[in-house]
Amino acid sequence: MRKLDAKRVVVKIGTNTICRADGTIDQGYLEDVARQVRELHGRGVQSIVVTSGAIGTGSAEMGLDGKNKDVAMKQACAAVGQAILMMAWRDAFRLHGMTVGQVLLTYGAFSSRARYLDLRKAIDELFRLGAVPIVNENDVIATDEIEEVFGDNDKLSALVASKMDADLLILLTDVDGLYDRNPETDSDARLIPTVDEITKDIERMAGTRKNERSTGGMRTKINAAKVAMESGCSMVIANGHEPSAIVRIVDGEELGTLFTPHVRYSNRERWIIFACPRGKLNIDEGAEKAIREGKSLLPCGILSVEGRFKKGEVVRINGMAKGVVNHSSSEIAAMVEACRREKAEGRHNGHDRAVVESEDIVLHD
Ligand code: GLU
Repeated sequence: MRKLDAKRVVVKIGTNTICRADGTIDQGYLEDVARQVRELHGRGVQSIVVTSGAIGTGSAEMGLDGKNKDVAMKQACAAVGQAILMMAWRDAFRLHGMTVGQVLLTYGAFSSRARYLDLRKAIDELFRLGAVPIVNENDVIATDEIEEVFGDNDKLSALVASKMDADLLILLTDVDGLYDRNPETDSDARLIPTVDEITKDIERMAGTRKNERSTGGMRTKINAAKVAMESGCSMVIANGHEPSAIVRIVDGEELGTLFTPHVRYSNRERWIIFACPRGKLNIDEGAEKAIREGKSLLPCGILSVEGRFKKGEVVRINGMAKGVVNHSSSEIAAMVEACRREKAEGRHNGHDRAVVESEDIVLHD
């Protein structure tokens, strides 16, 4: 048995688990998830459901299954499918006497501290009222905010788990967990029960397998594991069709693959490190050294400013760190210019205002 002791759980369910082969929603499956969430609720365990399936459902609804879709068509499918998906969740939870609340997120919700605090408030209030938050990415408008792929609910669920202080993230999918080789082509493939560290070998095992309707594969799940582990949250990848998978995992049964947590970052540091950066500050070697020694970033160490951002937003600092800026991008550009001019004219007195305070900088590997 595993000792997880989870009090707040995020359950992410993939499109291929929610939808049948023809793209329609498997209502019986949703009802079974609701039953398990109800059972956990009765024991004082809070659940947040991260649901995929909007694009798949919308695609089936409009007879577009099997067609190649560009981003705009996927956005349209999500717009159609999300409403159907939410009604299906509402009906499923109603059967078990519970209400659901739709939470549509973009990565921007995690980039501004004010928006993140608003999100926390709303989700805490849903819990207080006994409603279950059902989260999905707001695919209709999210496309310009996503760094890597369009609509990756694996990463989204890990960010939700991290920001909402969940202690367990369960990714329910159509495979039993992480295998050392591809189980579809290699009958000797063995399931890995526990991963304590994401090594190059683990990344290689994840491969690049993808599926037409859903976005994820093992690769995005491993990226999610990195976020969860560094946030002090356990993560389990398991087969969503294993009977009562959610309850059994919460109870510590050894289903699927467990990724064990490392507590590395504080809550505030986590917010900074996992925020989607709004721009970049390119800095010189001296400033890099100063930051590594725990000092603030001053305008004189900045070589250039990329992107447009406001005061209080998160930016990348070279490839080494992320930080919350004290000034907007245009103010910083002006400060850098003033500093350069003063130096050239020999009037620089070295008393610069910090662009990013030391306590607002988090170094990463
Ligand atoms: N947000 C997408 C949807 O609802 C799913 C993304 C994913 O499969 O990770 O269809």
